[in-house]
Amino acid sequence: MRLIVSLVSMSMFLMPTIALSGQGFDVIVLGALGGIQDGNLSSYLIRPHGDRNAIACDAGSLINGLKVAQDKGVFRDVKVPDGSSDSVIGHVLKSEIKGYLISHAHLDHVQGLVIASPDDSNKTIYGLPSVSAEIEQTYFNWKAWPNMLDRGQPPQLKKYRLEDLKPGEAKELTGTRMTVTAFPLNHGGAESTAFLIESGDDAVLCFGDTGPDEVQKASNMQEIWTATADKVRQRILKAIILEASYTSDRPDNLLFGHLTPKWVHKTLRALDQKAGGNALKGLPVVVSHIKYSLTIEQPQEAIRQELEAGNDLGVQFMIPEQGTLYHFQ
Ligand SMILES: [Zn+2]
Ligand SMILES: [Zn+2]
Repeated sequence: MRLIVSLVSMSMFLMPTIALSGQGFDVIVLGALGGIQDGNLSSYLIRPHGDRNAIACDAGSLINGLKVAQDKGVFRDVKVPDGSSDSVIGHVLKSEIKGYLISHAHLDHVQGLVIASPDDSNKTIYGLPSVSAEIEQTYFNWKAWPNMLDRGQPPQLKKYRLEDLKPGEAKELTGTRMTVTAFPLNHGGAESTAFLIESGDDAVLCFGDTGPDEVQKASNMQEIWTATADKVRQRILKAIILEASYTSDRPDNLLFGHLTPKWVHKTLRALDQKAGGNALKGLPVVVSHIKYSLTIEQPQEAIRQELEAGNDLGVQFMIPEQGTLYHFQ
């Protein structure tokens, strides 16, 4: 394993923009929480390992997430080109993040994008049609914010191209070596999205907010597991980013379209069954969207204990911290 890592490092040095198929993904946590801490809201920078060209899955926090990651040394290998006046953070935002995947238009998933948009580079925002429409009508409408889009209220500043995704259909992510396939989620009646991101023979699954099928009276999670079970069985899927907003004592009628550790276990068991059983052992599951609490204790430790207590699948649960870089392979 160490040998592989050093070979990859050498290849990165020689060919900094070439992705090495089969090397998995880098994921940088730009925002880990689901509220209410402004500056640390859902956003994950995802790129094939060994490739600088990335996508952000949700954009609740962008600049603050990049700052925290820089403080942790995650960008020490970033080379800002000679002649550029960009800071490292400016370079990563404008030149390395090639687009945004927006799961739904709730403020805690788009705030960073909207706020940074005047200084951002031209890029594409990918989303299901209902999500694109919401972004256009709610934010980039010349009332909440100038219209940076290529549609909606004139004049259109055309900084961002809105690209509608068709559920279940893979689409190339411009400027990257990745494709994305969107799957609709039921988030307390609102449409949210899970994104299957693929590069070569690797895949990672990034969920937006979602409630459990049983509570929502829906089948969205089942459908995603049906579509991805083969990739799990074949170990093509390297990681899942999945939400758990509250501890398991939260009553179902107060979930507001979110999961708890109890429901995470239940839905992962459904995936395991579809993948033939004993298929999730060691699979990294990044537990996103835990809500910051105004109580003395934060819920992370309780959620971690609940996740481990019911972990009969042997999943590798991870509670993310803002600014952390993971390599999933
Ligand atoms: Zn949210
Ligand atoms: Zn939401």
